[in-house]
Parts: sequence; structure tokens; C-alpha cells
Amino acid sequence: MIENTEKTKCLIIGSGPAGYTAAIYAARADLSPMMYQGLQPGGQLTTTTEVDNFPGYPEGTGGPEMMEDLKKQAERFDTDVRWGLITEIDLSKRPFIAKADDGKVIEADTVIIATGATAKWLGIESESEYNGYGVSACATCDGFFYKGKDVAIVGGGDTAAEEATYLAKLCNKVYMIHRRDELRASKAMQNKVLNTANIEMVWNHVPQEVVGEKEGFGKKVTGVVVQDVKSGEQKTLNVDGFFVAIGHKPNTDIFSGQLEMDEMGYLVTKADSTKTSVEGVFAAGDVQDHVFRQAVTAAGSGCMAAIEAERWLSS
Ligand code: NDP
Repeated sequence: MIENTEKTKCLIIGSGPAGYTAAIYAARADLSPMMYQGLQPGGQLTTTTEVDNFPGYPEGTGGPEMMEDLKKQAERFDTDVRWGLITEIDLSKRPFIAKADDGKVIEADTVIIATGATAKWLGIESESEYNGYGVSACATCDGFFYKGKDVAIVGGGDTAAEEATYLAKLCNKVYMIHRRDELRASKAMQNKVLNTANIEMVWNHVPQEVVGEKEGFGKKVTGVVVQDVKSGEQKTLNVDGFFVAIGHKPNTDIFSGQLEMDEMGYLVTKADSTKTSVEGVFAAGDVQDHVFRQAVTAAGSGCMAAIEAERWLSS
């Protein structure tokens, strides 16, 4: 055995709701799981200010606080939670061999992949400045805070269409900004969007800047400057919230060529299961789900992954 090699019955990669829930269940099943938290400890929820839709928090909670609670719960049952990244993994033989950026080599009997997906952002400075203060990549998570208000959403795919119609039920008005004059979304979703009275299409425009107020305690968005892609003319849409729905990228690069993925790079799991194409390797949360993408669904699949790992080890 190489120096620096450690063994675990269950290696969990990623520390969002899926990873921590897998850890809680695996630890309680005596698998003594080892978790590498990844690039963004706590995952995507750490960029959300308020979480009102996770069961068990009647007054709501903060994204970072919720992830801290989940981490404490996982550690209470002796999950070995570590900072750092798994940079390489060999799933071709068992035990699986993973290398971490702290120099450790991990021999794992089972692996639970909970590396999530990363929302794509426009990449403009003001977008990150107001992220969590009026800028969001998840309407289902944050739409509620804009009840009765005006918001804008950018994107022309199914996600943007679905989120625009969701927001339209809550908000006074939804501007849907798209860089072309035709939506990419499915015909059914297009019809929904185009037949919703309080969604106004802003065709052939791209967001240039998010504007807002930074004085006092909180920052808040007050508008989005959009530019006509043909004429170059700019105008400001006065909105309280700005939603970015231009796609997600699953964090699956290190598994490329080793596990079955769909054309977008999401891990493929067996029906009603978290089993991947390699026995002993399970996937939970957004890394295998581009439809629901909720903390509670991720947590549910994390639970499934731990139960399946435990059953697989004892079979
Ligand atoms: P998509 O990649 O399908 O759409 C992304 C949208 O964002 C496109 O309209 C694209 O414009 C636009 N866009 C991309 N980059 C930029 C940018 N820099 N500036 C402005 N606009 C930009 O992503 P989705 O998340 O919508 O969907 C991903 C997959 O998931 C799809 O296959 C979709 O069908 C599926 N899905 C299915 C659902 C369902 O069945 N209920 C729900 C949600 C998603 P352009 O069109 O010009 O390229």
C-alpha cells in the first residue's frame, strides 16, 4: 500500500444536501463514510440567502446555515468530513482508487457521487455582486420573495420557460429576456409562456448590467439594463429580481469515460435507484437530476444512495 493511502467503506464526493444526507444515513449504517467536500463546501445552497421550502424549518433558514446544520448532523454520527477535492478516480476495479488534492489516496469499497451541477452565469460583474441579493439561478427556490413584484428572467430554454411561468403565478410581471426571436424551449412550454398574460417577451436582447442599491445593510436589485442585439440600443427594465436560467453544467468531468452519462454530461442512474453504470458507484442529487434540482429531492436521493451502498456491501 502506498504511504498516504487510506481505506473507507464509503467515499462520498460532494457536500450539498445529497452528500450530507448520504453521509448521515451511511454513518448511521456503520459505514464510517469519508466525505470530500469539493470546491464549494455546502454546494449551491451556500449562495442562497433564504431557504423557505426545506421541510422542518417553519421560519425558513439561510442556505449556509442549513448546510452547516447538515454538516453538524453528519459529523454527529462520525462522518469524516474533509476539505478538498477528489481530483482523479479509477472506477475500473475494486476497491476504487481516488486521489485527493491533499495528496491522499483513498481506497473505497463504494462511492457516492454528489458533486452537483453548477448554474451557468452570464459572467457580468454586477450579476455576481447581487447574487443572493436579487439575482438568483433558481426561481423555485427564490421566486416567493418577489410575490407581487416585477422580475426578469434570462434564457430561452425549457428551464427559463418553466421558471417564467412559475414566476408569473407569483409576480406582478415577468420580463423574459432572450437573445434571439425564437425560444429553444419545447413547443408546449413555448405556448405556455406566450399565452401567459403577465409574461412580456423581450426578444433579441441580452442583459448588460444588473443595477441596484448598495447603501445601508442590504443590497437590492432595482433593474436590469438590456441591449438590443441588432441595434445596440439599451434600456432598463425596472425589476426587483433577476433570474438567470441559461443552463447548468453537471460536475462530472473526472468521471468522463468511466460512467454512463447523458448527452449533457449528467450521470445516468437506473430507474428508481441511484445505481450508476458501475456496480458499487451511486449518484445522488443534481449530478444525476436536471429536472427537479431541489434541496429536498437531492437529500432524498442521498438517502437512497446510502441505503443502496449499504445493501450492496452486505450482499
Ligand atoms: P438549454 O441549454 O436548453 O437553454 C439555455 C438557454 O439559455 C438557451 O435559450 C440559450 O439561448 C440561452 N443562453 C445560453 N447562454 C446564454 C448567454 N450567455 N446569454 C443569454 N442567453 C444564453 O438549458 P435549460 O436549462 O433550459 O435546459 C437543459 C435541458 O434540460 C434541456 O434539454 C431541456 O429540454 C431540459 N429540461 C427539461 C425540462 C422538462 O422537461 N420539464 C425542464 C427543464 C429543462 P439560445 O437558445 O440562443 O442558445
